[in-house]
Amino acid sequence: ILLGLVLLFSVIALIISHYMSKKAMFPITYAFSRQQEFTADASHELRTPLSVMLSSINALELVIDLEEDSYEKKIILGMKKEVKRMTGLVSDLLTLARSGSDAIELNKETFDLQPIVEEVINSVCPLAEAKEINLHYDTPKQLILTGDSQRLTQLLYILLDNAIKYNRSGGETSLSLSIRDKELWVTVKDTGIGIDPAYYNRIFERFYRADQARSRELGGYGLGLSIAKWIVESHDGTIQVKSELDKGSTFIVRLPIQ
Ligand code: ADP
Repeated sequence: ILLGLVLLFSVIALIISHYMSKKAMFPITYAFSRQQEFTADASHELRTPLSVMLSSINALELVIDLEEDSYEKKIILGMKKEVKRMTGLVSDLLTLARSGSDAIELNKETFDLQPIVEEVINSVCPLAEAKEINLHYDTPKQLILTGDSQRLTQLLYILLDNAIKYNRSGGETSLSLSIRDKELWVTVKDTGIGIDPAYYNRIFERFYRADQARSRELGGYGLGLSIAKWIVESHDGTIQVKSELDKGSTFIVRLPIQ
């Protein structure tokens, strides 16, 4: 019995000391992981009420048949836009909060990226058209690589969305993919407002926006590029930016091909 009790106490003492040492030795990491956990839980919980709100607004829009430029219609459309924006923010927060832990498992497979590029181009086309931006793309007929196709699709969206959002009306946006020395090069170029070199590193930080006012007005929260960086790095790649104020920016992603 005595031996059993000693063993039990040792195990309890070990668990307590493990917990305490984690908190005492790595207070920042510990606080950070608690914060990440909280952000992940909170964003997860926020998703349900937001999707309920969005379906209620959609239902309301159908039930009350309002005239296109009536005041009420504008209010409903405004609500819908904000709920969608918030849904995007919540989903970005969830991705980022989980990205530092083991909670997100990359779903790596071998696939052809070429048809995905076409899909992404088709979906961002209306955004480009609305700003009268010339959108070009150039990709080999087949782009077989190993990676998480969903995350790599998200990466293309983020870069193209920015290259349209921060462009001027009538400008150019191009996406080019090529294989060089066992690496996939993804280049997204625009002729937009550009980025001050002083902010090159900061734009990849969470919630950082180089031009607060403009970015907010365009609907950004400053999370896209931190998600892009996480996606690239979790595929052992690199992301770089070159830019000139008032002339445009080029984002270059290099991913090793296995
Ligand atoms: P946001 O949601 O604000 O666009 P991102 O993380 O995607 O967030 O980008 C961070 C900031 O980097 C943006 O607010 C903007 O100031 C700047 N930025 C990103 N892409 C471009 C671009 N193609 N041209 C000019 N500025 C850009």
